[in-house]
Amino acid sequence: MDTELIVQAAYLAASGLFILALMWMSSPKTARRGVRCAEVGTVIAIAGTLLRHDVVGYDLVLIAMLLGAAIGVPMAYLMPMTAIPQRTAISHAFGALAVGLIGIAEYYKLASGLAPGSFPLWALMLEMLLGFLTCTASLIAFAKLQEIMPTRPIMFAGQRLVNLLVFGAALAFAGLMIFLPNSSQYLPWFVAVALLFGVLLVIPIGGADMPTVIALLNSYAGLACSAMGFALNNKLLIVVGALDGTSGFILAVIMCKAMNRSFSNVLFGGFGQVAAAASGGADDRPVRSMSAEEAAPVLELASSVVIIPGYGMAVAQAQHRVAELYEHLEESGVEVKFAIHPVAGRMPGHMNVLLAEADVPYDKLVELEDINPEMPQTDVALIIGANDTINPAARDDPNSVIAGMPIIEADKAKTVMVIKRSMSAGFAGIDNPIYYLDNTQMLFGDAKKMTEQLVKELQEL
Ligand code: NDP
Repeated sequence: MDTELIVQAAYLAASGLFILALMWMSSPKTARRGVRCAEVGTVIAIAGTLLRHDVVGYDLVLIAMLLGAAIGVPMAYLMPMTAIPQRTAISHAFGALAVGLIGIAEYYKLASGLAPGSFPLWALMLEMLLGFLTCTASLIAFAKLQEIMPTRPIMFAGQRLVNLLVFGAALAFAGLMIFLPNSSQYLPWFVAVALLFGVLLVIPIGGADMPTVIALLNSYAGLACSAMGFALNNKLLIVVGALDGTSGFILAVIMCKAMNRSFSNVLFGGFGQVAAAASGGADDRPVRSMSAEEAAPVLELASSVVIIPGYGMAVAQAQHRVAELYEHLEESGVEVKFAIHPVAGRMPGHMNVLLAEADVPYDKLVELEDINPEMPQTDVALIIGANDTINPAARDDPNSVIAGMPIIEADKAKTVMVIKRSMSAGFAGIDNPIYYLDNTQMLFGDAKKMTEQLVKELQEL
């Protein structure tokens, strides 16, 4: 059979599998199947690509694959789930760099033979622009998520104008290279301003808004891949890039709605620029605290408890103990629900995944808009390692860096219990007024150990 036909059939099969994968990944119940399906699709796509006539030798390909596997396999096994956003950001950075570098290679190979203004030149410029800006934007996102650099917004006077000028310069260099023959001398300048624009795009974005940015960078990486498909005339890259670009875009829009942020601000890099800088960690006001021994009877006597998990539960890997606590309370006749914030933890759906892993019934997980009207009638809001997502400053303080972000209104419950280790701030780096309320009790300790103690105390009652 004609090799080209096999290659195209492989690409078609892979594209179909990627579409199915996306469909299955949209629900936690079928997400694992979706991931497996995408894995099979990727293997088929790589096998199809290796059959192509333009692959002249397999030795370099093999070395690259072994090198990639040597980095990727330990990363997959060793990296904790809480570091997924950073890992995603760094993957985008390298993927986008590869796209940009291929763009440079193709430009030097093809440009002299192409007519000024022709379509492949447009595709190459778009590919390089998106590739290089996504690379540096993702590196900055990585550094912020890993807290190598400050997570607070970095701003300076005239920032929007500078952003516009740099973006305009990138477009101008691209225009020169598209329309003028023999204009490769502009290429290094074009690459430099695209890289700079990526940095400028993400530095003004505050920590709590990073989830949306990651989704958007995902979209940019996909669009860069699609543009590369047009430049190289590769249908698989066009389809896969379009799927990645649109799904990332849709996720970014969903996240914007969940975070009550303007999408145009995200697109133009003016995101999270709410008033002054973050107010830092805890202040000196006194807080009330209690032990597990004191908290257990309060929970046992409550008629309704809403458990609000957050990043701390994920770090402590406390989900199985939390599920035991839930079972115990339900057996004692307490009505228990889990309030799920869309950006709790460090990746979209983080809490859903952890609680599903611990076999908490799915119908016990309630989204914030449905749980908030119930909070004033709730006896105990039990916060386990959540902070920004229950911070009333988002609702009450227009100058807060998280102003306008929807929260789970735990402060409205009759009693608030907070399990965390100290008075440290959450990801946004700001203090949380909920800790100082009259109805709040702090249960200081590691989420797993404290939940274990609560279960033990409940068993002894
Ligand atoms: P936060 O990051 O706001 O706060 C987590 C809290 O957990 C901290 O205050 C910390 O306090 C506590 N904690 C840490 N380790 C432990 C432990 N072992 N045991 C008990 N407590 C612990 O969490 P939220 O889930 O409320 O908010 C998520 C934040 O992350 C938001 O700002 C969101 O925008 C951002 N984000 C979300 C992403 C997503 O897609 N979901 C991606 C990237 C960022 P202490 O140190 O005192 O224990």
